Amino acid sequence: MSNSLQDVVVVGAGIIGAAIAHELSRYDLSVTLLDGEAEAGFGTSKANSGIIHGGHHTDTESLKGRLEWQGNQLWDSLCDELGFGFARVGELTVALTEADLPALDRLIENAEEKDISGVKLWSRDQIRAAEPQITRGVIAGVFSPHTAVVNPYEAVFGLVEAAVANTVTFMANSPVTDLHHDGNSWTVTTPDLTLGCRFVINAAGLGASTIANMAGVDGFEIRGRKGEEYLLDKRLRHLVRHIIYPCPTPVSKGTLVIPTYDGTIMLGPTADDVSDLSDTTTTTVGESNVFNDARRLVPSLSERDIIAQFAGTRATIEGDDFLIGPTDAPGFINVAGIQSPGLTAAPAIARYVTDLLQEAGLEMDPKPSLNPIERPVHFASLTTDEQRTLADADERYRHVVCRCEFVTEGEVCDAIERGATTVDGLKFRTRAGMGRCQGGFCATRCIELLSADLGIEMSEVTKRGPGSWLVLDRPDAEPTKDRS
Ligand SMILES: Cc1cc2nc3c(=O)[nH]c(=O)nc-3n(C[C@H](O)[C@H](O)[C@H](O)COP(=O)(O)OP(=O)(O)OC[C@H]3O[C@@H](n4cnc5c(N)ncnc54)[C@H](O)[C@@H]3O)c2cc1C
Repeated sequence: MSNSLQDVVVVGAGIIGAAIAHELSRYDLSVTLLDGEAEAGFGTSKANSGIIHGGHHTDTESLKGRLEWQGNQLWDSLCDELGFGFARVGELTVALTEADLPALDRLIENAEEKDISGVKLWSRDQIRAAEPQITRGVIAGVFSPHTAVVNPYEAVFGLVEAAVANTVTFMANSPVTDLHHDGNSWTVTTPDLTLGCRFVINAAGLGASTIANMAGVDGFEIRGRKGEEYLLDKRLRHLVRHIIYPCPTPVSKGTLVIPTYDGTIMLGPTADDVSDLSDTTTTTVGESNVFNDARRLVPSLSERDIIAQFAGTRATIEGDDFLIGPTDAPGFINVAGIQSPGLTAAPAIARYVTDLLQEAGLEMDPKPSLNPIERPVHFASLTTDEQRTLADADERYRHVVCRCEFVTEGEVCDAIERGATTVDGLKFRTRAGMGRCQGGFCATRCIELLSADLGIEMSEVTKRGPGSWLVLDRPDAEPTKDRS
């Protein structure tokens, strides 16, 4: 890596850091994106509900309320540019008791205040006609056409890939351990490099207060709020067409029934304050709360259909708003406390931060043109003719690696070429291992392909980076027990 002074270093390659790096790649700047994990998006951004919220669940008082709706509107063009899984499936927030009705009124008011069209009050009959599986106890609901589902990890990978194609440097396995300002510029230290830059963007998610402390900026503490999610068998595809929300509580949107982009039904998330920010355990209490709540909306749901479960932790701060802005440390910008709806707001946050950099004196010359990225092949969605043509041209598309999700060797090798270095990295890019058998069939083949293509021993292949070894021939190795 060059020793010359970078314009910007972005710390954290979750959806927020990735979106910022991608936005900055549109300008003639030198930018480096650093993450401590083995791949981008391995923090909270891989473990959420994957919903692009409709904007009417928040008012205009808070920054997150304003950025949510702006962000929502930017996802279509991002998807056109980068080609990740995204669909505007719409949502229904349903009232089950008279006491819920004021919450529906508030949603309509929020929509009117933000000038969001198409958000409408629906009667019981309209809801039951659109969603026959919804409880007969429903009394009314609010429909929004704007709410969408997205594959959040695909979005992160797409943003990073496009940023790199347009001169951003991305470095994984690079935890920032020290920050120092000498009066003119910053020195950013990781175990393997030191880097000089004019501006530092703190997009470190759950690590944001640690990064701020390194820069000599204090004043906020990150608190973890964990959310458990439960994925159900694809045989339930089409059980619901819209995302079903209960009426919200003060701390959470409640347990949702989500038809994911990939065709599974996902239930969750819970919202539990945790002192251990690295806690991503799922619990029997969480499972029973999720199913009890979800069955109030859709009574036929059953724990028997669970194929996977995971948890992610929201990085919250006091006041529950986003904390985005310059600090007393010159050129150090916080993008912290990005809890839900951070995924939704990410593209708007990226533009907001770009404006802050410009206001702080960074010259922003737009590049005359941008290098596009090639969309990954999704073999299962091709027509039979297209599949045959591809398989004739490249033998690797004749070999099915993941039977549940119909993923070919060609797609797995392409994902490795695009930067996957772990089994989870392959799973999030290709869906190999995400189906009913959860990698029982394909994990070994994925390990073999990673080993061959990266030129490393099979025992060095990990699930998600150092410590998560999968093949036991090391004296210090423990098999991973993670089921996510
Ligand atoms: C269960 C759950 C469900 C959710 N559902 C939704 C939803 O449906 N819609 C929505 O809009 N939002 C949702 N959210 C919120 C959303 O997931 C977050 O707002 C978003 O992912 C935050 O992104 P981030 O980039 O700030 O954090 P992260 O994805 O955690 O990224 C931060 C990155 O910083 C890196 N990092 C930390 N410390 C260092 C260091 N010292 N050096 C280098 N790198 C470092 C980490 O490795 C990590 O990759 C949900 C959250 C949870 C937990």
